[in-house]
Amino acid sequence: MRPQRSTEAHQTGDFAELVCSNSLKSESENSAPWLLKQEMRAAGCYLLADADATAVPAGHALAVDRVAFSARVAARLEQHPNITIHREEVVTLDPRAADLTVLATGPLTSKPLTDALQQITGAEHLAFYDSISPIVDASTIDMEKVYFAARWDKGSADYINCPFTKDEYDAFIDALAHAEQAASKEWENLQYFEGCLPIEETARRGRDTLRFGPMKPAGLTDPRTGRWPYAAVQLRCENLRADSYNLVGFQNHLKFGEQARILRMIPGLEHATFLRYGQIHRNTYIHAPSLLTETLQLRAHPGILIAGQLSGVEGYTESIASGMLAGIFAARIAEGESPEPAPRASAHGSLMHYITHAETRRFQPANITFDLLPPLEEDLRRRIRDKKERHRMQCERALAAWQNWLRIAVPAPVGTSA
Ligand SMILES: Cc1cc2nc3c(=O)[nH]c(=O)nc-3n(C[C@H](O)[C@H](O)[C@H](O)COP(=O)(O)OP(=O)(O)OC[C@H]3O[C@@H](n4cnc5c(N)ncnc54)[C@H](O)[C@@H]3O)c2cc1C
Repeated sequence: MRPQRSTEAHQTGDFAELVCSNSLKSESENSAPWLLKQEMRAAGCYLLADADATAVPAGHALAVDRVAFSARVAARLEQHPNITIHREEVVTLDPRAADLTVLATGPLTSKPLTDALQQITGAEHLAFYDSISPIVDASTIDMEKVYFAARWDKGSADYINCPFTKDEYDAFIDALAHAEQAASKEWENLQYFEGCLPIEETARRGRDTLRFGPMKPAGLTDPRTGRWPYAAVQLRCENLRADSYNLVGFQNHLKFGEQARILRMIPGLEHATFLRYGQIHRNTYIHAPSLLTETLQLRAHPGILIAGQLSGVEGYTESIASGMLAGIFAARIAEGESPEPAPRASAHGSLMHYITHAETRRFQPANITFDLLPPLEEDLRRRIRDKKERHRMQCERALAAWQNWLRIAVPAPVGTSA
């Protein structure tokens, strides 16, 4: 629809405009973002080829010259004999249409189309901003300082509790009060829902407010003292994410450096590695676990496929990956075939598995990280202590499964067909 109608973040009318950073993340061998890109390269992904062709020096990351990148994508689309470009805002969706539709209008999907999508999915199935809690690598939690317990002993003791003394709590609140927030952008103009306040905002409302909110100690008896602590942070094992824990209710809008410093003041997390930091930003996305199949089709309207950030993935690379898959699936459907989901062992398959099977109540979009991939078998994990070696093995398995899938699911190599 650009340039006739723009969004709060886009600045040009170009295709594939990278709105913020120009990074497609790590190229370090055997990292999760590298794996995703290797799979895309193996599939002949056009956008990744364009990114590789316009790469600029960025250490271990793949960063692109954003103008040259957009220009190459535009040239590809404009010169393709089977593509006709209409620059206009799409305002309706017809679920009964005989044609296939791939909807990829991103986190800033325009209002009329959002309304149309809500009509066919149900209003409760569309989110308008992300409120993300940090995730910590389980192996970096100091288990001597924390304890497992369920509040009031109700249910199984799945939560890890990080207990605070009064002094520790006071120091934590002081640090929060002086922490630097991520620069708020004009287009964000965030209106927080009361049920989803960032912790720094809650802390500002009173010294004890967090102790009566997400840091409530009531019912969390510490087995070592037989008492409740002064305050506590609860860590919940992430459904479908191996070896990682979510800091419950700790969504925040602080700079990542500040989060690293302040969250490490939590008893037990002094040496923690964070797999994801808290964030709050505008983002339109569907509730994929209840709406989408693993082949990115709306369950209720299989002629409509959802791709990119709107489908519940997060990030440039993940959006490109999901777009490529939607293209492959749509081509198969157009040929009268059944689309074959990406293999679970691969990074693509793991992303699709996550967005379509995640905990349904508070679904949040996902970046590619190792905890989304199937873990190695228990005996292997016991034998191989070195995390790098485990990751290397997971990548090897992923790439093998992906190559097999490409042979079955994509008869003509994507990158070589006209
Ligand atoms: C402000 C902001 C900053 C971000 N920064 C980063 C970052 O630094 N790194 C990162 O990895 N990810 C970032 N993201 C997240 C995300 O990965 C990117 O937004 C990514 O571009 C999503 O790709 P997409 O193809 O799904 O959507 P987009 O790239 O947004 O493409 C969707 C297109 O659809 C168009 N459109 C919308 N509504 C309509 C309509 N009704 N009719 C016709 N066209 C329409 C839009 O104009 C746009 O051109 C950011 C997101 C936002 C909002």
